[in-house]
Amino acid sequence: MIRKAAVLGAGPAGLWLAKTLLETYPDLHVTVIDRNITSGGMTASFSYRGLVFDFGSHRLHPAASHELLKEIQHLMGSELLERPRNGRIFLDGRFVKFPLKPVDLMLNLPPSFSLGTAWDLISGPFRKKACDSATFRKVLISGLGPTISEKFYFPYAEKLWGLPPELLHGVQARKRISSGSIGKILLKALKAVTGSGQLSNTFYYPAGGFGRICEKTADRIESLGGRIIKGSIIAAIDIRDRGMMITSEADDGHSEEIEEDFIFSTIPVTELCKVLSPRPPERIIKSLGELSYRSMILCFLELDIPHYTEYDAHYFPGKDIIFSRMSEPKNYSNSSKPPDRTGLCFEIPCWSTDTIWGMSDEEIAEIVIKNLELTGLPTIPVISSFVKRISHAYPSYSLGYRIAFDKVDDYLKNIGNFVTLGRQGLFAHDNTHHTIEMGVAAADCFSPETGLDRNKWSSRRAEFEKHVVVD
Ligand SMILES: Cc1cc2nc3c(=O)[nH]c(=O)nc-3n(C[C@H](O)[C@H](O)[C@H](O)COP(=O)(O)OP(=O)(O)OC[C@H]3O[C@@H](n4cnc5c(N)ncnc54)[C@H](O)[C@@H]3O)c2cc1C
Repeated sequence: MIRKAAVLGAGPAGLWLAKTLLETYPDLHVTVIDRNITSGGMTASFSYRGLVFDFGSHRLHPAASHELLKEIQHLMGSELLERPRNGRIFLDGRFVKFPLKPVDLMLNLPPSFSLGTAWDLISGPFRKKACDSATFRKVLISGLGPTISEKFYFPYAEKLWGLPPELLHGVQARKRISSGSIGKILLKALKAVTGSGQLSNTFYYPAGGFGRICEKTADRIESLGGRIIKGSIIAAIDIRDRGMMITSEADDGHSEEIEEDFIFSTIPVTELCKVLSPRPPERIIKSLGELSYRSMILCFLELDIPHYTEYDAHYFPGKDIIFSRMSEPKNYSNSSKPPDRTGLCFEIPCWSTDTIWGMSDEEIAEIVIKNLELTGLPTIPVISSFVKRISHAYPSYSLGYRIAFDKVDDYLKNIGNFVTLGRQGLFAHDNTHHTIEMGVAAADCFSPETGLDRNKWSSRRAEFEKHVVVD
């Protein structure tokens, strides 16, 4: 009988898992442990001199299942706003509405882009199909044709995931680019314009910042009797014949040992394996070396004006600009607070071994401002700036990642009373709603009497493979 379960990681996957466990099994002792002092993982928000910031642009996409949306709406009440998307993308030196709309594609882009795209649409059926193990380059050229691939997706992919398209696995294309052909992109854009179909031109966003979803989830966990240990890193997991011992360490050196009957882990699989005892065999350690997470620097600017632009986000796919996206959080929630100032967040994807990762906040802000000038956007009255770093922002799918991950996964599957899940745990480039669904599914496959139903969990895992990321 399982009486005590630990959840490692208080991001959306871990929190929704803990919440569902407690709602289903009120007698189960559930402890969530996270290294951060706030709940929510990458979806958290924070306040800075009256401005609310997220860790990069975050929105809840209507692509989430109807049941999940209803549950989040129920949790959030009137706090959850439905907002129109209002973004722009910097393509070929000009700004175009994003998500792409057919009219913009045809009228606002240079003729070489529009005509090339039109030709790729007509010639699509005659292009060679890419096989399942093909590279990102081959999958995209086969589905979308050369124009949009070369001008938009290839530079963007290299910027986000740090590898050229010929060294990226084709799975990255299938997971990220929901519209596999030009025809589907146009159809999707048309649906967005007319509001028909599942894809609409709106998104959901909590009035107090994206992080409110996880804050409310954490409150619910505590109200159900769950415990959340914050600011404590997992230092060791000792797997024993009966039960397992977790040691967590806080910044002040205080460490705590807790004995558990079952562990759900949502922390990066590479970090998890470092603290497992007994240590995984050498072949697993070698495979872990082939799994790389792309990091991200977030540069935040406080501006001496009520609004910078009317747009929520600007996307910069080109490699000539250092950041991939600039967002203005006040425009996500339509907030007028504070009345005199606004904030901007710039996302800079990088490797944690890159020089920029170790630069000072001031140096990074200076680079960001110089790059902003190159885009033609107005110069900005900056009052202050600061930087935050995300070490595990995106799983980067190298050509060898699948074989390496499968080896690690098979090893972890054989540990009794233990399961790994979430974006970091399954090395899955997923949206927030996907990872919440993973957490809920894990709780659904679990019972205190019999533990995790491995067969049911593996069917759910097969469903997760079909997830497509929405931008
Ligand atoms: C820049 C950016 C923008 C995004 N925008 C969107 C968006 O608009 N819409 C959307 O749906 N999704 C978006 N996402 C994706 C979304 O952030 C993730 O899907 C979601 O955060 C994954 O949740 P998770 O719980 O699986 O992982 P995480 O949120 O990463 O949570 C994992 C938790 O584990 C903790 N942890 C890690 N290591 C340890 C350790 N050793 N000890 C203790 N704790 C540890 C971390 O502190 C963290 O809290 C975006 C992601 C990024 C990077």
